Amino acid sequence: MKVCLDAGHGGKDIGAKFKRYREKDITLAIVRELESVMKADGQHTPILTRMLDEDVLLVERLRIANAHGCDAFLSIHIHADPQHDPPERATGAEVWMDPSNQRNSTLCKLIDENLLNTFEGYPWQGIRSSEELDILQCATMPAALLEVGFIDSRHEAEFLSRPVIQHRLAQALCAALCAYASLLSSAYTPKCSPPQDAEPQRLRL
Ligand SMILES: [Zn+2]
Repeated sequence: MKVCLDAGHGGKDIGAKFKRYREKDITLAIVRELESVMKADGQHTPILTRMLDEDVLLVERLRIANAHGCDAFLSIHIHADPQHDPPERATGAEVWMDPSNQRNSTLCKLIDENLLNTFEGYPWQGIRSSEELDILQCATMPAALLEVGFIDSRHEAEFLSRPVIQHRLAQALCAALCAYASLLSSAYTPKCSPPQDAEPQRLRL
């Protein structure tokens, strides 16, 4: 399976920002770590929409996924909520999906479950549906957008910037993608196998 890994923002588009933390840097670090975990795992091929701190238009991100024939699209972002007022600060992670396709829901559910199991105590907010996120609307393959946390929650910005956390996050996402791939392939597993003593010429495709 080929998976398009999309690090949100980049170049002039910083994304959300809080003190020294910038969304575009953290999303790239997470995606690069996921790329290396997937390569080490060797089961599936990561395709990145950007490998550096560079501008990549939304349409170009989708073109890359299509051009490589990716089977799934995972976009990584970090929320910000400049309007929030302590002590009710916005917090936690969300997996966003376009509800119009069942396969989106399967992919998002596996991502949510794996993250929940990996980071006990982290405020995972679960799966959210939206028909207004362009990247999810325009993807031609099952897609998920992960908001890993809030950059303007000091604890979460620090947490998500730590290489050890990025590595665990990457491992959890890799496991989710592998589980998704095996569900996809099991859907195509024949229900019966050819008889052991069958003559080769009797088997027809
Ligand atoms: Zn973003």
